[in-house]
Amino acid sequence: MRFKQDFFEQLEGFYSQVYPQAISNPHWLGWSDDAAALIGLDKPNDELLMQLSANHAAEGATYYAQVYSGHQFGGYTSQLGDGRSIILGEAIGPDHAWDVALKGGGPTPYSRMGDGRAVMRSAVREFLVSESLAALNVPTSRALAVIGSDLPVWREGQETAAITVRLAKTHIRFGHFEYFSYTGKGDNTKLTQLVDFTIKQHFPHLSTDNAGYVQWFSEVVAATAKMVAHWQSVGFAHGVLNTDNMSILGDSFDFGPFSFLDTFKEDFVCNHSDHEGRYAFGQQPGVCFWNLQRLAQALTPLIASDDLVQALNQYQRHLIDHYLLLMGNKLGLPIFEFTQGQSSDAAKTEQQQQDLQLVDKFTSLLEANQLDYTNSLRRFGELDLNSQHASLRDDMIDLAKFDQWFAAYQQRVGKVDDVVNWQQARNAANPKYILRNYLAQEAIIAIEENGDNTKLVQLHQLLRQPFAEQPEMADFAKRPPDWGQGLIMSCSS
Ligand code: AMP
Ligand code: MG
Repeated sequence: MRFKQDFFEQLEGFYSQVYPQAISNPHWLGWSDDAAALIGLDKPNDELLMQLSANHAAEGATYYAQVYSGHQFGGYTSQLGDGRSIILGEAIGPDHAWDVALKGGGPTPYSRMGDGRAVMRSAVREFLVSESLAALNVPTSRALAVIGSDLPVWREGQETAAITVRLAKTHIRFGHFEYFSYTGKGDNTKLTQLVDFTIKQHFPHLSTDNAGYVQWFSEVVAATAKMVAHWQSVGFAHGVLNTDNMSILGDSFDFGPFSFLDTFKEDFVCNHSDHEGRYAFGQQPGVCFWNLQRLAQALTPLIASDDLVQALNQYQRHLIDHYLLLMGNKLGLPIFEFTQGQSSDAAKTEQQQQDLQLVDKFTSLLEANQLDYTNSLRRFGELDLNSQHASLRDDMIDLAKFDQWFAAYQQRVGKVDDVVNWQQARNAANPKYILRNYLAQEAIIAIEENGDNTKLVQLHQLLRQPFAEQPEMADFAKRPPDWGQGLIMSCSS
C-alpha cells in the first residue's frame, strides 16, 4: 500500500495519534479482490496479514483516531470519536485515495468504557454488507478484508475479536462538523478549516468561498437523498442512523445491526435497542433529512441560514427523483423522458405523483400479502405485459386488488416492443441475491463452531454478482427458514 497523509498532516488537532494493538493468531476470514483493486492491491499475503492485524507496522502508515460528536437516537452527545477504529492514512488507488481503517484495532482515547474491539460476528457482517451494497450499485464504504483471531472479548458472553479493514473515501461524518462547531464557542477557525479541507479533498470542483460553501452543502443534501433512495429501493435498513454514522459524501457507512428486508414491512426495525422504531425501514428518508438539519445547524456560523434552508428544501425533490429513477427501472416504468427535459415541471410533478402512487400501492400489496421484497421484484423479469402473464399474481391472496393494480401498471408501461430486452433490463435492476440475515448468520455460526469460513467465502462470492442467475446457488435466494425470519440484531458488537 502506498499512503498519503493529507488528513493527518493538514488537520492537526482533529485526531489523536494511537497505536493499534495486535490481535493474536490472525487469519484471513474474508478478502475482497474488488476492494483490493481500488487501492492497487492484488492478492492477500502473509506480510499484509501481519500489518493489518497490527502485528507489524505498515510502512507509510500514521495511526490515528478521529474526534467527532453526534446526535444519537435524537440526543446530542458532545464527544464521541473513533473508539475502535484506527486510520492508517489514505491508500493511493488507481482512481483516487481511500482511507484505510482497522475497525476493531484496539482502544483509543475515545473508547470511553469500550474495549476498542469488534466481535467476529459484527466484523463479518460489516465485511459482507459493504461489499454487497457496492455490488448492488449503492454508494458505500468498502471492506478490503476481515481478519479473525483467537483474542477473547466479552459482550453478553465470551466471543473472539476480529478486525474489518474498512476502505472509505473519507471518514468525515456529519458529527465532525457538529463537534468543531459546538466546541468552537464563537471561534470558527477549526470549523472553517474542516469545511475547506472537505471541499478541497472531496469536492474539488468547488471554491472555498461563501458561494462554494453553499453549493457544497447543496451537494451534501443531494448525495444524502440519493443514498437513502438507494436504500429504500433495495430494501436496506441501516439500523443506527445517528449523525456520527453519516458520511459527508453520502456513502452508506458504519454498519451495526443493519438488515435487508425479507418480507416487505414498512415499519420493520432491525435494531434490538431501537424501542421506538426511530430507525425503522420506512423512517429512513425522514431521519436522513433530520440529520441534514442537524448538519445545517452546525454550519450556521459559516453559511447563511436562508441558504441552508433553500438547500434543505431541495431534499424532497432529490429523494423522489432518485427513488423513482431506481424504482421505475425496477418496475419498467418509462420515466426517462423527463430526465431529457422534454416535459414541463408541472407535467413532471404530476407524472411523478402518479408513479409514486403506483410504487406505493405495489409495496402495500407486498406488505398485505406478506411477500418477499427482493423475490417479488425479481418476478418482473418474467413478465410479458403483452400477453398479460403475471406470475406475481400467483403469490397474492387478494387477487382482485392485485388485478386492479396490475391494470394501472400495465396502462402506465404501455406496449413493450422487445419483450426479451425489457425482461433483461428488469433482471439487471432487480437483484436475485441479497445479504439475507439468516445467510450471514449461517456463515458466522460455521466460523464460531468449526472455524470454517467456507460459507462466508461462498456468500461473499455470490453477492459479488447479485443480478446474475447463478442457478447452482438458487437456494440462497430463498426466503428465510422459520428460525431466520425477521432476525433482530443486537447492538453489542
Ligand atoms: P457505533 O454504534 O458502532 O457507531 O459506535 C458509537 C460510538 O461508540 C463510536 O464512538 C464508537 O467508536 C464507540 N464504540 C462502539 N463499540 C466500541 C468498543 N467496543 N470499544 C470502544 N468504543 C466503541
Ligand atoms: Mg459509528
